[in-house]
Amino acid sequence: MRLELRPEVAVAYKSLSQRARVLTETWVQENLYCPACPSDNLYSAPKGERVIDFSCPNCDEPYQLKSQSHPFGGRVMNSVYEPKIEAIRAGTIPNFLFLQYDLRALVVSNLFVVPKHFMSQSIIERRRPLSEHARRRGWVGSNILLGNLPTDARIPIVEDGHEVSKATVRDSWN
Ligand SMILES: [Zn+2]
Repeated sequence: MRLELRPEVAVAYKSLSQRARVLTETWVQENLYCPACPSDNLYSAPKGERVIDFSCPNCDEPYQLKSQSHPFGGRVMNSVYEPKIEAIRAGTIPNFLFLQYDLRALVVSNLFVVPKHFMSQSIIERRRPLSEHARRRGWVGSNILLGNLPTDARIPIVEDGHEVSKATVRDSWN
């Protein structure tokens, strides 16, 4: 696993958030393996999938990627609320990858995965609808309450710039 991000894949993008998304999605595609099975690859999900970014070609485990440049605290802002709750009810909620990158050094500094069975309604918080002045008025986002998870719900893959061995990650998953 290389921890470097490749800035050349994002040159076409102007906004920082788009660049970060492309950099980190490409990194996952090129470097990350499936923590749940012996597969050394994850595939990008077709665009337009609402809660899934990657899936394993071998065991079909779905993953959503959440990336940011600052450390993950107890509460993480996430996408629209209702599809996530529907997915939890339907049993289709994916596993969540939490990736922290260093934008100056262009490396992945921390990455952990939360298996989907920990993603229950009790850790998804509904945000207040956007106000009537907002462009996406009435839009309801969500927060993931990482602070409410048991400590063994986080399986480290990269810790403080160091890769955890694949065997350790897969053992923890099991
Ligand atoms: Zn797999």
